[in-house]
Amino acid sequence: MHPKSDVPNPLQGIPIEFVGSFPDPRVRVEPPLPEIAFIGRSNVGKSSLLNALVGRPGLARVSGSPGKTTLLNFYRLPALYLVDLPGYGFARASKSDRAGYRKLITGYLQTRERLAGIVWLLDIRHDPSKEDQQMHELLIESHRPVLAVFTKTDKLSRSAAATRERELAEKLGLQPEQVTSTSSRFGLGIPELASSIIAAGGEENS
Ligand code: GDP
Repeated sequence: MHPKSDVPNPLQGIPIEFVGSFPDPRVRVEPPLPEIAFIGRSNVGKSSLLNALVGRPGLARVSGSPGKTTLLNFYRLPALYLVDLPGYGFARASKSDRAGYRKLITGYLQTRERLAGIVWLLDIRHDPSKEDQQMHELLIESHRPVLAVFTKTDKLSRSAAATRERELAEKLGLQPEQVTSTSSRFGLGIPELASSIIAAGGEENS
């Protein structure tokens, strides 16, 4: 059984506005505000998580079959931007697609002055893929604060999910406070993640 979480979500019902989709990681957005970016392998559940966080099922597009967008999607909350970075790990991506993707992400990680944190999504059921490992290296090199979010925990029993959380954190060399387990489908871990995002966004958001 996976009952819905009854902890209040501080981002639920907050005003949110789609700012735009941008190909340039150095894009200037007005007004400048702290940014929290979301990244993960394609199909990891990133759109579902964004929608669950703000309680808007139609905000980000949930796809059965992964597409190939390489745009940064900016959403504005009153005092914070949520930035949906494109997913990685397409089986059909060419060598130049991969190089372009890497340039986009490193450009974003290296240049955003107001980047306050990165939410890195991993499917709780799978060991980190080669692309996940590569992303992990980029994240470490960026020296930005990272919160690893394990997705789709409802696909496992509670005890199996707790064991996997520990195993994955250990494999990735992450401390317990750097990981959080979620189910967008059942709202599990979502209020807690929303609170962490607000805290990372700083004083303007509390
Ligand atoms: P994205 O490509 O990372 O944006 O992933 P999506 O949000 O589009 O989700 C990919 C697939 O995983 C869709 O079929 C979703 O319905 C499914 N999914 C996403 N989150 C969950 C979850 O918490 N539980 C379960 N069981 N399925 C999920």
